[in-house]
Amino acid sequence: MKKIPPVDLTRQYQVISEEATQTVIEILNSGRYIGGTAVTTFEQEFANYLGVNKCVGCNSGTDALYMALRALDIGQGDEVITTPFTFIATAEVITRVGATPVFVDIEADTFNFDLQQVSAAITPKTKAIIPVHLFGQPVDMQRLMEIAQAHNLYVIEDCAQATGAEWNGQKVGSIGHIGCFSFFPTKNLGACGDGGALTTNDKAIASQVIMLREHGLKTRYSHELTGINSRLDSIQAALLSIKLRYLDSWNQQRQQAAAYYHQLLQPVTGVKLPQALAGGTSVWNQYTIQIKDDRLDGEPRRDRVRQKLAEMGVIAMVYYPLPLHLQPVYQDLGYRSGQLPVAEQAAREVLSLPMFPGILEEEQEQIVYSLKDCLST
Ligand SMILES: *Cc1c(COP(=O)(O)O)cnc(C)c1O
Repeated sequence: MKKIPPVDLTRQYQVISEEATQTVIEILNSGRYIGGTAVTTFEQEFANYLGVNKCVGCNSGTDALYMALRALDIGQGDEVITTPFTFIATAEVITRVGATPVFVDIEADTFNFDLQQVSAAITPKTKAIIPVHLFGQPVDMQRLMEIAQAHNLYVIEDCAQATGAEWNGQKVGSIGHIGCFSFFPTKNLGACGDGGALTTNDKAIASQVIMLREHGLKTRYSHELTGINSRLDSIQAALLSIKLRYLDSWNQQRQQAAAYYHQLLQPVTGVKLPQALAGGTSVWNQYTIQIKDDRLDGEPRRDRVRQKLAEMGVIAMVYYPLPLHLQPVYQDLGYRSGQLPVAEQAAREVLSLPMFPGILEEEQEQIVYSLKDCLST
């Protein structure tokens, strides 16, 4: 049988190969490789796509999150509430600015943090909340903004996995005070290298970030802040402009693939399918099922299933095998195993099936057929 990778980016590239190659050659010939119109054009197009005033391109989603915290003056002594079930970058930046990440448990159905627990975790030290629209599934932004407004807190949306997702018809990244995007190649809008962007309706925040991304530079050579070097380069920006035109259709292909997985997997016992909240439109960066596992220790049953699937040519992934509150780097925060039980159980049970624009129905059928086989042995 054919081997099926978790992501096949060549299928996207095939669609744009002619215009992409031509654009890259034009930029190579221009001699202008950093900044310039390719970057400002993409920033404007992306802001328009999301329905925000400002987009500031940068080198990665991690940098966008870091600069968001810096622009809001969050640091030593401040607490930032977020989810333990995410990529490390979300929490790492909180630590990097000197603030303390506060982890709250997730909901079993959506893998996103539980808003009741977010409310309960607010203290006088809380400055901001970072919701992560995990796997492309948006957090209930209406409720979250109500909570934040009631306590005068900033909301920084981690949209790295959710470019194009919507809550009640509004694009994520346009609802909180700041949106942070990653253009890592496997994200919904992926560059051919690293890239990121920060979006906001607040002009003052945007000008702070424009300074931060270029060494705190205000006017040449007057440095007003300790900044970083985080530029989006011209070739990536130009490629992103091309890909942005395909984003909605690629997200639709992901939605169709998710619906087909649902249909194929509905009758299969022993797996829990991802649920969508009413109000949210997911863009399915991942299609993540759970392989039910009653034990709390030892090797998760999921790992055996994953191994067998790999032997049958289907490469499934585990995002994330260890929640952040139990990571070695956060040992000194004092969390115990068992403290955030829903996230911990998800870490034992989750399995992300191959998902990418251009995945074929026959490939999905092979995946589900193989999965059934692995479950029954
Ligand atoms: C990918 C990712 C990031 C980081 O983005 P980079 O561009 O790789 O720095 C942050 N948060 C989440 C949830 C991600 O998936």
